Amino acid sequence: MPETPADTNDVREIRINPIVPSESVLVATARSMRPKKAEELAPRDTRKHVETCPFCRGNEHKTPPQIMTWPDVGDWHIRIVENLYPVLGDDRAQAGFNFGLQQTIDGYGRHEVIIDHDEHGIAVHEMAESHLAALFGVYQTRMRQLFESDDRLKYVLVFKNFGPAAGASIPHTHSQVIAMPVVPVNVDAEVANSAAHYAKHHHCIFCALIDEALTFEATIYDRASGAVRRKINVGQYVVERGEKFIAIKPFASRYEWEVHILPLGHQADFLDMQAEDRADLARVVKRTMARLDAVIGGAQYNFFLHTVPHDGQQSAHAHSYHWHIEICPRTSIPTGFELGSGLFVNTINPEQAAERLRAVAL
Ligand SMILES: [Zn+2]
Ligand SMILES: [Zn+2]
Ligand SMILES: [Zn+2]
Repeated sequence: MPETPADTNDVREIRINPIVPSESVLVATARSMRPKKAEELAPRDTRKHVETCPFCRGNEHKTPPQIMTWPDVGDWHIRIVENLYPVLGDDRAQAGFNFGLQQTIDGYGRHEVIIDHDEHGIAVHEMAESHLAALFGVYQTRMRQLFESDDRLKYVLVFKNFGPAAGASIPHTHSQVIAMPVVPVNVDAEVANSAAHYAKHHHCIFCALIDEALTFEATIYDRASGAVRRKINVGQYVVERGEKFIAIKPFASRYEWEVHILPLGHQADFLDMQAEDRADLARVVKRTMARLDAVIGGAQYNFFLHTVPHDGQQSAHAHSYHWHIEICPRTSIPTGFELGSGLFVNTINPEQAAERLRAVAL
């Protein structure tokens, strides 16, 4: 097939992550960049109940020890259990080893599984808003308990792998909690860079990005002629808006359908979210997931919660850091170029992706 002439809307540019400038993304919408499309995604399990599933109701005796349930009496709808194959455990007392420049730290920590729903294959956008609000409450409760249980724990990472393409090994919908004695490098980079931004500009960079997303327009001029090359209406990055939360398509999205959800008002710590605000977060998450599912045709994704670490510095970072949820749908597999260069390649223009997500009728 002959090459079609380059579409005038094609974008090929390196975009720098405004929060972590060492992270950049090559946005290249030209056809030549597209061969990394994954083979057909393995379908996810949509059954309601599976007799042999240890996470389904009635099989409670098949899971590792239970930590808590919601509600705490009667039939459970959310359940936390120990992870059968923890990546970190509290039974390893050995100190860190030293191998020259390679250091390992003590593998102390906790690894738990949150069974998000009693219904086996339910997707987030299919859950009731009240259920999702309760799930976020369970995240908060367990994080708080873990921080209070041991002051060596500096970070509690809550994440969810949904669908085989996202690495979920158990098809029953679940999240994971990893409490660790170190701050994950990507969170650490966000915390350090936003603190540096705050020191220089006296405002939170996440708040500034939200303001820009809501109001700002930019015009890109040609350097030589001065002619307008492109107008960017930054408002086009908004995917979904609630009263208290907003879903934004990052300007430097690493993944084609990546979306971030943030509180509209400044808040560093996920644990500070008030109970009455959970309903709005649930609504924004549910609607965002429904948009993703409709556009991608069955979203399989990783999502993770980034919040201020409890490393003794949280009051120092209270004004500069801003908690958020990153949703990273898996629609392609990384190429050798990406793995070798560390540069993410995004083949869909984030502005157009946001437009398509917004256009979904819910
Ligand atoms: Zn199940
Ligand atoms: Zn902020
Ligand atoms: Zn983040």
